[in-house]
Amino acid sequence: MLKATEAILAELISFPTVSSDSNLDMMAWMADRLEHHGARVELFADSSGAKANMFATIGPDVPGGVVLSGHSDVVPVTDQVWHSNPFQLSERDDRLHGRGACDMKGFIAAAIAMADPLAETPLKRPVHLCFTHDEEVGCMGARALVPELQKRGYAPRMAIVGEPTEMRIIEGHKGCCEYTCRFHGMEGHGSAPERGVNAVEYAVRYVTRLMALAEQLKTRVPANSRFDPPWTTVNVGRLYGGVAHNVIPGFAEVDWEMRPMQEADAGFVKEALHAYVETELLPAMRKVNPAARIETQVIGEVAGLEPLPENAARDLVAQLTGNETCDVVPFGTEAGLFQEMGMSVVVCGPGSIHEAHKPDEYVSRDQLSQCLTMLEGVARSVAA
Ligand SMILES: [Zn+2]
Repeated sequence: MLKATEAILAELISFPTVSSDSNLDMMAWMADRLEHHGARVELFADSSGAKANMFATIGPDVPGGVVLSGHSDVVPVTDQVWHSNPFQLSERDDRLHGRGACDMKGFIAAAIAMADPLAETPLKRPVHLCFTHDEEVGCMGARALVPELQKRGYAPRMAIVGEPTEMRIIEGHKGCCEYTCRFHGMEGHGSAPERGVNAVEYAVRYVTRLMALAEQLKTRVPANSRFDPPWTTVNVGRLYGGVAHNVIPGFAEVDWEMRPMQEADAGFVKEALHAYVETELLPAMRKVNPAARIETQVIGEVAGLEPLPENAARDLVAQLTGNETCDVVPFGTEAGLFQEMGMSVVVCGPGSIHEAHKPDEYVSRDQLSQCLTMLEGVARSVAA
């Protein structure tokens, strides 16, 4: 199995599926291979036609079963110094190097390798392989795919998201929501502030409200939160506006993000900000300039994975890996989207997040075999 997985991994790494580029060649290669082994494969193109998600099924067409999930895209190699071609698998000391080796083509290769024996085993529940595009830039692919799967009536019971965790079991992570807020006021001479609408001042009032909300979030921590820090955080990442001392700035822009540890916190912040904008900021701006406006652009809203007391996926993976401790992590994945679909979800995959996104990224043979052992167990769990 390990040999087969390595051969597949070499193929996958050879497709330079950087998020900004097409993943269609890699998808076509995987679809071909999976169909050849009896999987039912469906590809979902995005609106540009340059990228696709894949959902493949092995076994009976019934509810339940397990989703093995991975993203096909990788981060760029720009400005990184590699000791070998990043898009060609190279082996050194039992480590397999290449862009995406651990994040997360190693897991995808293991899942595809498992498809061969799976197709030859009578199954009572299906195994689905779910490979997405654009995870690294805000889980765009998965967000488009989830409603499509719901439309088709898929109702898998659990999902294993194979992000690199060194095969440790991750049952929770915070979400990540990013926004850009633009303030359009009215320019004027600095000597007559009341005749203009100072976009920078309104941006600062917005940020001040946001920071007050950030303080309130610290009082909304459930007793058992295992996150570090244990509350939902807010970060103002960029503040822009103005041209000179004596000019009333007509435009300002704020980039900010929030890492919700529970869905309700995201709603709390968004509703409070919306109310503040509608009842305080906008009326004041429009008194001077009726055309003044505030636009909020959603850059990305990735759901968190909420750790739940009952989690069949976690229990299965714990039993298969013999790993009894479960953790939460600070990085985001597609897992929260699957949880919203009603599945029990766990994140567990080969390789280390510390190697991901770096030059000379690798996955070790040992990690790949541990992953295969887990997947063989998954196969047994759905066998007739
Ligand atoms: Zn990843």
